[in-house]
Amino acid sequence: DYLKNIRNFSIIAHIDHGKSTLADRLIEKTGLVQSRDMKEQYLDNMDIERERGITIKLQTTRLHYKAGDGEEYILNLIDTPGHVDFNYEVSRSLAACDGAVLVVDATQGVEAQTLGNVYLALDEDLEILPVLNKMDLDSARPDEAKEEIEDIIGIDAEDAPLISAKTGMGIDDMLEKLVQVIPPPQGDPNGRLKGLIFDSYYDSYKGVVIYTRIFDGSVKKGDFIQLMNTGKSYEVTEVGYCIPGMVPSKELKAGEVGYVCASIKRVADARVGDTITHTDKPTDKPLKGYKKAQSMVYCGVYPAEGEKYENIKDALEKLQVNDAAFQFEPENSAALGFGYRCGFLGLLHMDVIVERLEREFGLDVITTLPSVIYKVIMADGTERMIQNPTNLPDPAEISRIEEPIVKAEIMTPKDYVGSIMTLCQSRRGNMTHMEYLTETRVLLTYDIPLNEVIYDFFDALKSRTRGYASLDYEFQEYRPAKLVKLDILLNKEVIDAFSSIVPEEEAYAKGRNICAKLKKIIPMHQFEVPIQAAVGRKIIARETVRAYRKDVIAKCYGGDISRKKKLLEKQKEGKKRMRQFGTVEVPQEAFTEVLKFD
Ligand code: GDP
Ligand code: MG
Repeated sequence: DYLKNIRNFSIIAHIDHGKSTLADRLIEKTGLVQSRDMKEQYLDNMDIERERGITIKLQTTRLHYKAGDGEEYILNLIDTPGHVDFNYEVSRSLAACDGAVLVVDATQGVEAQTLGNVYLALDEDLEILPVLNKMDLDSARPDEAKEEIEDIIGIDAEDAPLISAKTGMGIDDMLEKLVQVIPPPQGDPNGRLKGLIFDSYYDSYKGVVIYTRIFDGSVKKGDFIQLMNTGKSYEVTEVGYCIPGMVPSKELKAGEVGYVCASIKRVADARVGDTITHTDKPTDKPLKGYKKAQSMVYCGVYPAEGEKYENIKDALEKLQVNDAAFQFEPENSAALGFGYRCGFLGLLHMDVIVERLEREFGLDVITTLPSVIYKVIMADGTERMIQNPTNLPDPAEISRIEEPIVKAEIMTPKDYVGSIMTLCQSRRGNMTHMEYLTETRVLLTYDIPLNEVIYDFFDALKSRTRGYASLDYEFQEYRPAKLVKLDILLNKEVIDAFSSIVPEEEAYAKGRNICAKLKKIIPMHQFEVPIQAAVGRKIIARETVRAYRKDVIAKCYGGDISRKKKLLEKQKEGKKRMRQFGTVEVPQEAFTEVLKFD
């Protein structure tokens, strides 16, 4: 019975509590990667992730461990992304596991995302092994952290291993416990094939590589498999284990974790959460939990001055082949010309894609204001989903506008409750629950418009709580709101790329704020540039960029020559990433700056 020697598990943790470091230690101790060839944080394999210290792309790896009972165990470590934008992917990775190691930083205790992930794990009926990390630090307070785990999460933490992922202390003890606490997988290797896709990526030689956990049956090269939610069939070209590199094997059978290749062209065709079965002998039902990718945030992506539209199209297509949650379609802006409307899971996802366009593809792009999707109910009763503020129909034809609301859970030390409440109120939040988890820790639950959360809410929260508060949120429902389209005019022309949908009562303040910011950013021209904000035909704010006088430079003559040089250099610098709107030149930063609240 091969099943009793397999353990399929994930590591879950709040950001920075040490998940990646622990994964590194485990690979070093039990994997085939020698520590001297090991790059820090093996599992976080994208540069952007490494720089930001977050995990986005899932990876999985097979480890070998000889336990104290003399048995050799196969430990399949399935990594999960560490950001709320990717909650669905996290839940599918957990569904592939039988247990989870819960890493809690002993200097910090339990935080909101720890909770969010633990709930996801409990939803999948996983056995949870809590461990306390960073025990090498003097500030570690394991007893308090244990108490928090017991009080807040409600699982026994008395025997939680005390470890340091950094120094390797306590890791052996942890592995022993892991083998005892986390149950072996169950499944019938002779049953009909049923495998869960918990990750997929595109490889230019093999096509889409599917990471799967087989629940029943087995799969091998030459089999015809069907993906039950898309209904499409493919011939398997290779199966194997991730060690973490791909190593082919004869078959993958019930209880095992590995990869399957079947000449699939796009990851969207092998979406996370889908079920693999045999085409000729399908299992009766797909695994539960499959969801279609749903973009929450949209923005326009346009070529910057001198960049080619075709290059952007190529790059977006390449990115999409590898990212089922990223969507795009052509759009046309009066101000920016031809470009693309892109859909993302959240702002982090958007940042990652835009950064990849710039770094991996070397492209210069302009992104427009991000927007959530609004639901517009027309006077005639029909509904429209609006991804681009410019497309908001004439208010006279609209019966009402609805916006997406999320349920946000904020965990904080009690001292900051007051300032968090002020912040949430200013973002149209509505408190639905407040609970003292311990004497000092409070959980606040808010209904809050997604639009108020996506921009800088997390940063604002962190800065008001000296970094102690943590945030988790998920989409809840659409609710009616009094919203209007706020237009920005430069030199009397509406610049569609700057339009946004805002609460009616904030239109005036926002309009003034944006005009003031643009005034600072837009360089002087040879003529006066009026900057106006308007709702409908009504101008609600105005600023003016003065024309520069021709003698600005002439005046430097005879005087300071280096000052003249500086002036010219500054102008040249400014030319980069400028965009011409009619007669007005606008720097790229305008689009990101106007977003920021103060
Ligand atoms: P993740 O976000 O959960 O993946 O956390 P990381 O593994 O990236 O760790 C976050 C930071 O904590 C990094 O700077 C690590 O070097 C540090 N860290 C992780 N484990 C330990 C530990 O046991 N002791 C100490 N002192 N630092 C640690
Ligand atoms: Mg990490």
